[in-house]
Amino acid sequence: MPALPEAPGLQTIAEREALLLAPYAMHSENTAGRKHPEATHPYRGPFQRDRDRILHSSAYRRLSGKTQVFTNVDDYHRTRLTHTQEVASISRTIGRALRLNEDLIEALALFHDIGHPPYGHAGEDALNDCLATEGGFSHNQHALTIAEELEKRYPNFAGLNLSREVLDSQASRVAKGEKIRAPLLEAQVVDAADSVTYDAHDSDDAVKLGFLTLDELTEIPLMNQLLERILERSTHSSQEMLRLALVHELIDYQVSDVLSSTGQSLSDQDFVHADQAQLSDVTVKPSPELLREKEELESFLYERVYRHPRLLEVRSESQDRLKRMFEGFVAHPEWLPARVQTRIDQVGLPRTVGEYLAGMTDRFCGRVYEERFE
Ligand code: MG
Repeated sequence: MPALPEAPGLQTIAEREALLLAPYAMHSENTAGRKHPEATHPYRGPFQRDRDRILHSSAYRRLSGKTQVFTNVDDYHRTRLTHTQEVASISRTIGRALRLNEDLIEALALFHDIGHPPYGHAGEDALNDCLATEGGFSHNQHALTIAEELEKRYPNFAGLNLSREVLDSQASRVAKGEKIRAPLLEAQVVDAADSVTYDAHDSDDAVKLGFLTLDELTEIPLMNQLLERILERSTHSSQEMLRLALVHELIDYQVSDVLSSTGQSLSDQDFVHADQAQLSDVTVKPSPELLREKEELESFLYERVYRHPRLLEVRSESQDRLKRMFEGFVAHPEWLPARVQTRIDQVGLPRTVGEYLAGMTDRFCGRVYEERFE
């Protein structure tokens, strides 16, 4: 490797992190490592390598063809990939302000929805029904299966060989509510940012796509309060500009709230290690007031958008499609691609079919359905 320019105290990942990160952050030098040990990289830390592995995985790229909320309505609304990128950006903003490990945060954010099947939560619910007698299907669990078994990147073992911290953080999303130790603060940041992100972009998409008017959205007290803030700064905005300003204001308001409520509780403590934060009752989350406001916004979006007749129609069509495909492939395993058939010995036929369907993009799923089932 060519000699790198030297900056005092910033030569190694550990030195850099010692200067920039808080003592309670997850420092790279304390990583529990990987299942298959690897030599350290000359200039990338372990969590940078995790991020790169996730970014270069097939499952990550397929997020561009997967539904977030709206399926194929136009080219404006979020896909699972652009959602993921927004979550990564907001997570890093929160993480940097709290002096947490941004590399780990970015890896976790890019990873968080990688297990999503086609057609969003409708697809997940359909696969969960199909696999009901086999332990069900959850996108959070499936992300672990992808990372540990399905991605093939190395000659000697399956999976991406991610760091223990990435896998454990994802595992904590599977088994919620039954643990002594909270997830790493970095993982909590990603969960908080996920919620900040979808509340903002779903409001935006819903108005842009005509599911709601701006007036209807701003009947909600939180949105009305944010609109007033915007109008204090400028009264000459078009409806289009107001919608965009409202989304930015909603993100900024939520991020500021999470930072002030979490930052205060962190600075009240004297944690010198990431472990101590995990064993304490400090959590990265919105204030009780914002939580209440978000609940109000989310139940409004649920009633008016997620359960809109147009979405319900797509939902039931895509669920019928997945269920027919599941039954069809279970009855005809010879229809599965050869590389998928080899999985049957490991996890059985129903799970193999479920995993195969879960890996599909919306478009590919539609194409296979047309070819085989119509
Ligand atoms: Mg998400």
